[in-house]
Amino acid sequence: MKTTFSIGGIHPNDSKISKDCKIEVLPLPEVVYVSMAQHLGAPATPVVKPGDTVKTGQVIAEPAGFISAFVHSPVTGTVKSVGPRKDLAGNNVTHVEISVEPDQWAEGIDTSDTLVVEIPQDNKFILDRIKACGVVGLGGATFPTHVKLCPPPGKKADCLILNGAECEPYLTSDYRIMLERSKEIIVGAAIMKQVLGGCRTVIGIEENKPEAIKVMSESLAELQKTAKGFDGIQVMSLKKKYPQGGEKQLIDAVMKRQVKSMGLPIDVGAVVQNVATSLAVYEAVQKNKPLITNVMTITGDCLPMERQHNYLFRIGMPLSYIAQVAGGVPESAAKIVSGGPMMGKAISNMDACTVKGSSSLLYFTDEQTRRKEASACIRCGKCADACPMGLEPFLLNKYARNGMMEELEENAIQDCIECGCCLYSCPANIPLLDVIRIAKGDVIRIIRGRAAAAKK
Ligand code: SF4
Ligand code: SF4
Repeated sequence: MKTTFSIGGIHPNDSKISKDCKIEVLPLPEVVYVSMAQHLGAPATPVVKPGDTVKTGQVIAEPAGFISAFVHSPVTGTVKSVGPRKDLAGNNVTHVEISVEPDQWAEGIDTSDTLVVEIPQDNKFILDRIKACGVVGLGGATFPTHVKLCPPPGKKADCLILNGAECEPYLTSDYRIMLERSKEIIVGAAIMKQVLGGCRTVIGIEENKPEAIKVMSESLAELQKTAKGFDGIQVMSLKKKYPQGGEKQLIDAVMKRQVKSMGLPIDVGAVVQNVATSLAVYEAVQKNKPLITNVMTITGDCLPMERQHNYLFRIGMPLSYIAQVAGGVPESAAKIVSGGPMMGKAISNMDACTVKGSSSLLYFTDEQTRRKEASACIRCGKCADACPMGLEPFLLNKYARNGMMEELEENAIQDCIECGCCLYSCPANIPLLDVIRIAKGDVIRIIRGRAAAAKK
């Protein structure tokens, strides 16, 4: 029987318009701008200066702390500048500007397509490679992967879950890599399983992707028959429900365990990694290939079929360049979103550049984005029914509007995953997510401030 998470959730139209668009390689631009803040944690420290020549895959920045990551040059060329530039959110972030020449890969990187199946048995070697190649979580959080694969003392992984849910409407990049790079993803899973002590491993895919379930299952069966290290891995078909790809929701769906308020997946023995991260782990460990590429979806109802795309991009490519290669921003686009329509962010700066975690350019028309006028809450409770974290959004909205910080914390606003299910469900069109998101930030600052003061 197909499974899903037990609390809340919604069923938006999945709009996977670009699902049949094969991955195409984007041509290189003349210049790339590589951000030093492509991961959760401290921005990386540049180790190159203007005038330096760099090769594709060469380290250009080192981690600046325990939670940080290496950044590599996505191209061959000459460093033009190192300095601040606006990122997607409009923040000034240090970027390395590189003028682009034909690729010459840094030494020791295997750029061939040959599948390397044999799983290394030396966990230190694996973790060192993942760290050295700058691998971070590609499901949205961009947390450094080598850190996530080392549970803290006293904690043990019972289950590694590979997130192939891709529950956000419109996005199809994970779907395409599951069809086109299935074996590499599964080898990546087997590598992470090995590091985590050989725990049970589940690749969770929603039922609206039957072709991905079939291809991944067939590839897994073949690897299990012909190679070592693939036992204990299974593909699990999940009922379609948003936000199935949320870590806590996926753990509930697969393991039937609940992560407590402010808790971590490892508290219940779970490690969750996205399928794209698994592919990056494969490339790092088996090919010594740093994370300088990823796949993004270009889509929207206002685009004709021939202008829907799934592109293999390199980090540092200006979004305006990608939009231009894809045929230009459609005239009817009133809003461009990076990430999915539920949790993504509106783009105000098309000069911003791709980062490791970039996943899409979504075009929405004025009609699709126009907010309906909000009316008074009718106490229908639909927002609470939809909330996958068991919160009461109507109450949080009231407390937030009245600045009642203690009440917000008592009612666990800090657990909100900003999924937008409440906003989607509200018949009174109250901008619940907008209000809750801002108040959540304030409450988290208060909690962190209190913890810091307690440490002194
Ligand atoms: S955005 Fe937050 S409050 Fe709203 S449904 Fe999602 S988790 Fe619940
Ligand atoms: S869904 Fe909207 S109208 Fe219904 S209780 Fe929640 S906030 Fe009020």
